[in-house]
Amino acid sequence: MVTRLKEVDAVVIGVGWSGSILARELTKAGLKVVGLERGAMRLPETDFALPHSRDELSNGVRLGLVLDPSIETYTMRHATDETALPIRRFGAFLPGMGLGGAGTIWNGLTWRFTPFDHAARTRTIERYGAGVIPEDMPLSDWAMSYDELEPFYERFEKLCGVSGRAGNLRGRKIDGGNIFEGTRQSDYPNPPLVQSQAGHMFETAARKLGLHPYPTPSSNVSTAYTNPEGATLGACQYCGHCDRFGCAVNAKASPNSAILPVLLRDPNFELRTDAYVTRLIYDKAGRKVTAVRYIDRKSGEEYEQPAGIVALCSYTFSNTRLMLMSGIGTPYDPHSGTGSVGKNFCYQVTSQVQVFTKEEINPFMATGGHAMNVDDFNGDNFDHTGLGFIGGALIFAGPTHGRPIVNRPVPPGTPRWGRAWKEATAKWYNHSFSMHASGGNFANRGNYLDLDPTYRDEAGLPLLRMTFNFREQDYKLSAYTLGKAIEIAKAMNPALLGTPMPRKGNLNVVPYQSTHNTGGTIMGDDPHTSVVNRDLQSWEADNLFILGASVFPQNPAHPPTGAVGALSYWAAQAILTRYVKSPGPLN
Ligand SMILES: Cc1cc2nc3c(=O)[nH]c(=O)nc-3n(C[C@H](O)[C@H](O)[C@H](O)COP(=O)(O)OP(=O)(O)OC[C@H]3O[C@@H](n4cnc5c(N)ncnc54)[C@H](O)[C@@H]3O)c2cc1C
Ligand code: SF4
Repeated sequence: MVTRLKEVDAVVIGVGWSGSILARELTKAGLKVVGLERGAMRLPETDFALPHSRDELSNGVRLGLVLDPSIETYTMRHATDETALPIRRFGAFLPGMGLGGAGTIWNGLTWRFTPFDHAARTRTIERYGAGVIPEDMPLSDWAMSYDELEPFYERFEKLCGVSGRAGNLRGRKIDGGNIFEGTRQSDYPNPPLVQSQAGHMFETAARKLGLHPYPTPSSNVSTAYTNPEGATLGACQYCGHCDRFGCAVNAKASPNSAILPVLLRDPNFELRTDAYVTRLIYDKAGRKVTAVRYIDRKSGEEYEQPAGIVALCSYTFSNTRLMLMSGIGTPYDPHSGTGSVGKNFCYQVTSQVQVFTKEEINPFMATGGHAMNVDDFNGDNFDHTGLGFIGGALIFAGPTHGRPIVNRPVPPGTPRWGRAWKEATAKWYNHSFSMHASGGNFANRGNYLDLDPTYRDEAGLPLLRMTFNFREQDYKLSAYTLGKAIEIAKAMNPALLGTPMPRKGNLNVVPYQSTHNTGGTIMGDDPHTSVVNRDLQSWEADNLFILGASVFPQNPAHPPTGAVGALSYWAAQAILTRYVKSPGPLN
């Protein structure tokens, strides 16, 4: 039996960054909002307290704060002629679960995308001609320009108290910041973090090569900071437990530290945890989602929550899956190229090389964000003529953590166990860091999401199926940008270099790469080729909005969450200034 509840103004599905920002904006405007989160309650004061918050085995290795695949997982295949199999232990990416979502356990690297990223198709054609875009790459511009989104990027940076150094302040290029970034109207709210030893070495080497190093913009805040919501973040302690952990000193901006303390006190907001949303009730003729169906995972009871506005904020995978399970829009068909739900599923093209140094590195003093980067080989910041790929990579160095279970770098040829391995571990632990080329991933017609015909979740519903592989574009991008990273590494005069690891072969879902999964419900200006319009409103249901990286048409090189936060403020503004006044299609 399904219990039908009293209608509310809005329901937000998933309470991570996207859901909590949207809910906060709507409740501030007086709307009654219910947040449905499939995972458990998570509060900093109880759940991230010392010492258990820094338990590397439970959280770093056994993934205690990540989606439990026995509840829900995804199936994976590389091409349509393969049979997909379920991922039984998350590895390549780590989907969030619980209040705060992946935002609780993120690393805090907070970039904006660049003007090129917002207009990748137009700018590629302008510079190189349409012929350089491969036939099977549905490259699109974003539905809004960088300049349009700029004030919303700024709002998210202020919410998080991002620590960084501007490189392009109102058009003035500033050495020491990222001179390739889009024009920003104000500097970062906080100064950069103290730089790591690896970052210093990277900076010196990059400058020697004529490149433009800059510190990572980071939501691990460098100084105590009170954000515009009135939430206070402490100064980072450089404990090295950002990524996969909650922060014990509230120095990492997360939904739990930066916005939920205020939202949870707001009487206009009601949070329901352990609420697993299974379907949106769709009235096709009326162009509306009338209610959201969910299972209370504790009692097993099923509920239907009617609402005036429904927002999917449940990350790339669930956003797409719920659209498909609810029969909203046309599923993408890779053979005919028709349909849009599930298309343009993208990932990240990561490559790396280990650097072994004569200098001490002190990798146990770390944060997610005290690293150095160059954007000289990102986007369209360099000439691609004859290279055979478009876009590029963010190249960076710096130990993001020196946690001792996982971080045991040893030179190539070292035995995998025994005395020689132990001696090498002791010798190199304090003398090694990795350098990365983290590349953008452009859409390919063969990479998409749909419902698996065989495998089901704990509720008996079809799992989402990923069909994905890297392409020629990705391999060339990886080889080129990793080559540039190695040039920087060599300019550091290292003791030795590890074996370079460019992206090769099929996607392997076992080693971690990044939790930057995008697409599936992309934005655009044509209802036939996209799922949401530029206000992130569904083309099919006027009261349905979709937030998160699932709306990116392709995945740029920089990490996504700066844009995810900006788009949440963008959608909130569209809803509050236009949709609530005149409910109907906004575009
Ligand atoms: C270890 C790690 C490190 C990262 N580091 C960085 C970084 O440094 N920089 C960066 O830019 N990005 C980083 N990311 C990515 C970043 O965390 C995400 O981009 C961001 O958190 C996405 O926010 P979101 O609200 O859109 O989705 P999520 O945070 O995934 O929130 C979605 C919520 O929806 C809930 N949900 C899903 N399905 C349902 C359902 N059916 N019913 C009810 N609820 C549901 C989930 O439980 C989850 O809480 C990292 C991610 C991970 C895992
Ligand atoms: S390194 Fe800083 S931001 Fe990260 S968990 Fe430790 S104190 Fe928090």
